[in-house]
Amino acid sequence: MVEVSVFLAGLVFGSFINVCIFRLPREESVVLPGSHCFSCKRPILWYENLPLLSFLVLRGRCRSCRAPISWQYPLVEALHGFGFLFILVHFGLSLQSLIYCLFFSSLVLVTFIDLSHRIIPDVITLPGMVIGVIAASTVLPPGPVSSLTGLFLGGGLFYLVAVLSLALLKKEGMGGGDIKLIAMIGAFLGWKGMLLTIFLAALSGTVIGLSLILIQGRSRAEPIPFGPFLAMGAAISLFWESGILAWYFSFGAM
Ligand SMILES: [Zn+2]
Repeated sequence: MVEVSVFLAGLVFGSFINVCIFRLPREESVVLPGSHCFSCKRPILWYENLPLLSFLVLRGRCRSCRAPISWQYPLVEALHGFGFLFILVHFGLSLQSLIYCLFFSSLVLVTFIDLSHRIIPDVITLPGMVIGVIAASTVLPPGPVSSLTGLFLGGGLFYLVAVLSLALLKKEGMGGGDIKLIAMIGAFLGWKGMLLTIFLAALSGTVIGLSLILIQGRSRAEPIPFGPFLAMGAAISLFWESGILAWYFSFGAM
């Protein structure tokens, strides 16, 4: 019963995050006005706005003008539903889980905004750093020292990469948004989780970047945003950090 409630709460929260993904980069209010169809501008009624369900019933189209609704809506809702459920199973019914749900949600938010707008808004990462340090100092495992180390080391490393690529390669290798995002991730996960996040993001970014070049012949001048890879790395670190590190260091003992 708890599992079902948390899953449904995730769907509803995901529905709200969908609004944020669309409105935050445009600096619009996330509360008012209510949702409307982007094509015919007709307001969307509450029963047409039920997470997942409405998309399935309406078969992905607006009820009046039949304009297609983005697959991003049900995807973000499903990610939240299953993400929150997975956090509950992994960390139990606790304050820790509640904070991790918010952290997970901010990662999804950052991913989709970065994919469509190539920015990571400060309005997410700056409060995220503060909340991360406070949470890690009180209820989360890293503790204050590891959290602050994660914040400054992560932000510092990425800042160094940004300065060096600008000086040596004469191009912007790391955006300010990425610097603040890794600092926020460091605050929540501590320095170990932060380093694992960078490793996983660099690995998956390289694999997917190379695959895109091979499949689409995508030119190297058109960089793919790094934020989604950091978010994915952070989510994996959140759930499997101790397992991955134990596995990795087991090779040293052999
Ligand atoms: Zn419409």
